[in-house]
Order: sequence, then C-alpha cells, then structure tokens
Amino acid sequence: MPADSVAVARTVAVLREAVNGWRARQQRIALVPTMGALHRGHLALVEAARRHCDRVIASLFVNPKQFGPREDFTAYPRDEAADLAKFRNAGVDLVFAPTVEEMYPAGFVTTVHLSGIGDDLEGAHRLGHFDGVATVVAKLLLQCLPDAAFFGEKDYQQLLVVRRMARDLNIPVDIKGVATIRETDGLAMSSRNVYLSAAERQTASLLYRALTDTAAALAAAPDDVAAALRSGLDRLHQAGFVAEYLELRDAADLAPVTRLDRPARLLAAARLGRTRLIDNIRVPPK
Ligand code: AMP
Repeated sequence: MPADSVAVARTVAVLREAVNGWRARQQRIALVPTMGALHRGHLALVEAARRHCDRVIASLFVNPKQFGPREDFTAYPRDEAADLAKFRNAGVDLVFAPTVEEMYPAGFVTTVHLSGIGDDLEGAHRLGHFDGVATVVAKLLLQCLPDAAFFGEKDYQQLLVVRRMARDLNIPVDIKGVATIRETDGLAMSSRNVYLSAAERQTASLLYRALTDTAAALAAAPDDVAAALRSGLDRLHQAGFVAEYLELRDAADLAPVTRLDRPARLLAAARLGRTRLIDNIRVPPK
C-alpha cells in the first residue's frame, strides 16, 4: 500500500484479519458506517470515533436493501477515489468497501426487522427502508466487532433503530450519536444535496428555519403542539416543499408527544422537486 493511501478491505476475510490483530492487542475499535459521497458530517463521525477508540474502521457501501424500488439507488452519488482520500486525511485506519455480492452472497435470505419504531415516520414513507438499514448494520457490527459505532443525529430515527436493534440482539457495542453538521445557512449536510438545483438549494435552508421556528412556537405554547405543527407545515408548503411529515416525538423512543413536557425531537421530511430532504432538532421540555 502506498504511504499516501488508506488500507481497504474488500472482503470480510481481509477485514477480520485486521480486526483480530487489533483485538489481540486490546485496542478499542470504532466503526463509522457510510454510503460514501463524503461530506463534513461523515468526517465529524470519524473525528468522534478517533477520540473514543484506538482504531477506526469506516465502511463504504451503498446498501441496495435500504432503497425502495422507485428510489435513487443507481443515481446515488459515488466517488470512491475521493472518499478514500478523505478517509485517509481524517485518520481512518481501514476502509471496509465490500461489493454487493460480498455483503449479500447468492442465497442470502435474512432480514432484521424492527416493528414499531422501524415502521413509523421514515419507515412509513420508505417501506422496507429500516429492514435494509437494520440488516446491513447488524452485518457490519458482526463483521467489524467494534467497541463503539458512530451514527449521525441527522438520521435521528436511524440512530434509535440501530441502538434498539443492538440492544435487542445483545450485540456488545456502544452506539454513539453525533450532532448534525450544517451548512452556514442551516441546511443539514447530506450526500443528496447535490441533487438540488441552484434555486432549490436556496429554498432548502428553509427546512431548518421551519424546524427552529416551530420549536420556538412550541416553547411559547407547550400545550398546543398541534397548532405549532400546523403552522410549521404551512410554512413548508408556502416555501415550495411537499412536506411528508413534521412531527414532535419523544426523544427517547419516538412516541408521539402532544404536550411539551419531556425531552422531544422535532422531525421533518419534505421534497423539493426530485430531492427528498430530512432533518430534525432537539426540543427541550418547557
Ligand atoms: P450516509 O452516508 O448518508 O448513510 O450517512 C452515514 C452516516 O453519516 C450516518 O450515520 C448519518 O447519520 C451520518 N450523517 C449524514 N449526514 C450528516 C450530517 N450532516 N451531520 C452528521 N452526521 C451525518
């Protein structure tokens, strides 16, 4: 391997060799799962992983199972050479970049499904999405055997789904959440932001504005959650979004919240043209 590149494992066997060596030396291992098209949000996960562990594995795998039949799997942005350089500069020790055939060999029939939390919100709008996420993350955790795995709060429901799954299946890993990294105008960084036209990119920051304004309305009238959500949805529609949901949920389990009397999360999904954006913010209790 040239000195200026990062080690890449394409197979579970090669990955396991590195993992076994580190574990034999009692080194703490972190996993940062990604689908590539890296931005500063992904690199914040790597930084957090480096602070907590001796070794960092980043995975690079566009997981077909978490895309619906009419979603953007084939169009999803891919630039492996650029991603490997970014991982190397961020201090990643090993990139696990398997092929689809390595991850899902012929005859693969297992699905990890979370009822309840996995069927709601994103799960209701993207049928089967969390089956794909939970299945691939369960595999990645068992392939990499990390002490800790790092996920962005940007995908807040995903973070809770993964944490629940690891608990339910007794996978001995600490699931860590990392705060959302945003552009200067508030738009949450996302690999899908490249789909936005210049005009849509201008509008896109209003999703975060709608969230923060709705949170302010909730703080002012904590008993009238429904009114705050209605006016938030109106703002999104007026700005040109097709909103899929804007919901206030319990921060721990995503149960619906009708009065702001406990730590909550305000979560939204909205389309701008062909691009689907999601975002969420913390809403402290009044
Ligand atoms: P993805 O490549 O979109 O599957 O994301 C890989 C990981 O990066 C997930 O844990 C995401 O939640 C996290 N992530 C994506 N965008 C951001 C962001 N703007 N800030 C922090 N983490 C993020």
